[in-house]
Amino acid sequence: ASETEAALAATLSDSPTIFDKIISKEIPSTVVYEDDKVLAFRDVNPQGPIHILLIPKVRDGLTGLSKAEERHIDILGRLLYTAKLVAKQEGLDEGFRIVINDGPQGCQSVYHIHVHLIGGRQMNWPPG
Ligand code: ADP
Repeated sequence: ASETEAALAATLSDSPTIFDKIISKEIPSTVVYEDDKVLAFRDVNPQGPIHILLIPKVRDGLTGLSKAEERHIDILGRLLYTAKLVAKQEGLDEGFRIVINDGPQGCQSVYHIHVHLIGGRQMNWPPG
């Protein structure tokens, strides 16, 4: 049974996600940055005055950070570098928080890798 569950979980995590529809603009989002590789848009359930998600336009198997392979190094760097550009664009000069949730214990709910950029308030440590 556990093997079946694992297989089902893998299938689920490989299926298209809501982010595909955001990329194709089938579902509206507030885009704050876009280039040929990366899309950044406002989170619908913001955890701070500024909460933006940065995603690769092509998932290429990168459902989460734990699935990263060497071929993903460029896009991973790009996501972080773009987060810095967007933080600047949003005026987050006093700092910000970057989060990548992974898997069930990391509280990941969308299996298309995404970087959370949260700011505009004092953050606390440790996170919940
Ligand atoms: P969690 O839901 O625990 O934050 P994730 O790290 O997988 O898990 O984050 C998914 C994020 O996607 C959530 O912050 C959620 O608010 C956001 N989200 C879901 N649907 C949309 C949408 N249509 N537009 C913008 N953000 C969305």
